[in-house]
Amino acid sequence: MSFSVWINRLLLISLMLISLTVVLVVGKANLQSNSSNPSSTDLDLAAWSPAKVQLQAANEQEEEFQDSSKSLTKTDSTPKLESKNKQADKLQKSPTPSSTNKPVSTNKQAEQLQNIPQYSFKTTKAFKQYTPSYEIALANPSNYGERFTTDINGVPLNNQAIIVLHETSDSASSAINTFQAPHTDENKQVSYHSLITLNGTIIYIVPPDKRAFGAGNSVFDGSNGSETVQTNPGLEPSVNNFAYHVSLETPLEGRNNEPYHIGYTDAQYYSLAWLIAQSSVPDERITTHRDVDRSGTRIDPRSFDFDKFFNLLHSFRQSIS
Ligand SMILES: [Zn+2]
Repeated sequence: MSFSVWINRLLLISLMLISLTVVLVVGKANLQSNSSNPSSTDLDLAAWSPAKVQLQAANEQEEEFQDSSKSLTKTDSTPKLESKNKQADKLQKSPTPSSTNKPVSTNKQAEQLQNIPQYSFKTTKAFKQYTPSYEIALANPSNYGERFTTDINGVPLNNQAIIVLHETSDSASSAINTFQAPHTDENKQVSYHSLITLNGTIIYIVPPDKRAFGAGNSVFDGSNGSETVQTNPGLEPSVNNFAYHVSLETPLEGRNNEPYHIGYTDAQYYSLAWLIAQSSVPDERITTHRDVDRSGTRIDPRSFDFDKFFNLLHSFRQSIS
């Protein structure tokens, strides 16, 4: 074999190797862009919206929402948060008229909802202009469960949703570690649906249609009277069955047992208002762990500025009823 033939073969082999590398790199890039395609993350993100807080009597509406979100993702190529907002809008606008063409179960639902006032909200332009960053840190399944349709005595449940505000007391990461650790002892099973870190990042922990274990012995006193649900004969009744629990990371200076601290960051107030603006829960059903607690041990969230929060909430959603 002459030297030049040998060189040519070497060149040919190098060329083949280079083209193989190019094919592999380009292929990988395509794969990555596919996996970040909005159609796959759309549903995931929409599923975390508190607009999805679904309770015993509202199952029919949830099916409707899922159907519409499926068809949306097939045709809609708008960026993920944008289309999430649209879905939230859609759900918030639709409670009465859209259920008229649901023949069988609508009547049942109407009966169940007969004495419950309906609230509808529309998110605003300011809401759409604010885009908090988020992470998903799913809790261990031992720390949350299904929402019950009846209590321990078999009585059907039809409580409207409430939102319960908390603070973590420690760092957000320490709270998440607790929620992600399996707990067999019922007294140690704890979780929130979401929490908001000091820099305003929303961490989604328990899907809103599930029952998070955010409060022990607790009662919500509202315009419908005292509401609480016992679902476990071994545990005190609580608001968990109809609650969406959201917590604020405690400031560094407040990780002690003092009754007050310096309060929460602006980013936390904005993200909290943005999150809750997507729900149909009326202002008077937004409460605190301190208010619902009946164990006499909970005082969170400490130093929470309700005026600041409600002003932001009202800038992010408006009543349309
Ligand atoms: Zn709490």
